[in-house]
Amino acid sequence: MRIGRAAGVTDTGRRRLRNEDAFICEPPLFAVADGMGGARAGEVAARLAAAALEEAGTQTRGEQGVTAMIVEANRRIWERALADPATAGMGTTVTAALVDTDSGTVAIGHVGDSRAYLLRDGALEQLTTDHSLVAELVSSGVLTPEEAERHPQRSAITRALGTEPTVEVEVLTIAGQPGDLFLLCSDGLPTMLSDGKVAAALEAAERDPATAGEALVVAANAQGGEDNITVVLFELAEGESPAVEPMPAERPPPEPEPELAPDSELEAEMLEPEASEASLSRHGAGPGGRAAALVFILASLVIGALVLYWGITR
Ligand code: MG
Repeated sequence: MRIGRAAGVTDTGRRRLRNEDAFICEPPLFAVADGMGGARAGEVAARLAAAALEEAGTQTRGEQGVTAMIVEANRRIWERALADPATAGMGTTVTAALVDTDSGTVAIGHVGDSRAYLLRDGALEQLTTDHSLVAELVSSGVLTPEEAERHPQRSAITRALGTEPTVEVEVLTIAGQPGDLFLLCSDGLPTMLSDGKVAAALEAAERDPATAGEALVVAANAQGGEDNITVVLFELAEGESPAVEPMPAERPPPEPEPELAPDSELEAEMLEPEASEASLSRHGAGPGGRAAALVFILASLVIGALVLYWGITR
């Protein structure tokens, strides 16, 4: 088994001013986090979670691995909230999928109401159960699933990352099959689109993760885009994963964590042109260009000296 195509996309939606979702699409790790909290604290929480997961991503496996990375993310957000009163009470959801290509399994861990789905043989199945008020009311028979979809408290979650010193992570393992298409998403997708519409969009995109991701965001926005929308899609395919992963030529530096600043400063910060170390170094001459420049300078010096010598001796 190997991981085939994968893509992640996030969008602010049409009602929110900021995007407080974060995602990871770094095979074999995929994750979605949906932050909450005043000011930009939700964004801080979601990004802290993504950073903690990303750090642990390549070293761990299975349910234990995915649980450990989410527990570590919880610890970091909790400690940051204690140290920084501006972020007190911040939290985030997280849904993470860690693929083990050797065993062909996908370990999924989650806290909150971001979801994991699996499209297999044309049928879309929700793999995770929301840790939300309405999900509990549905399971106890108080609400029907249809009533839950329209419930005013539908975004109230009963479990979050970073709001308590410890967290209970729900985990499950899926035995993967070639052709499986996994979808991780924040609640901004299912609150706007029914599972049927999501499945139809995936099929219409011919199960291509990048095309499907864009189509889902467009469709959720067309339905109102009331929340941030984040989707991460990856497929499993036949065959072996490459023994040697191609090394990325240059890795951009990690995105800086957002500072909790007043809005005016914020806007200024956002208007700054993005110039990463990587893009800057690509704009330079490079080692080959530098050698050519050196030869040119030396040649100029020699010619200059000759002209000077000729001028003096003449
Ligand atoms: Mg949300």
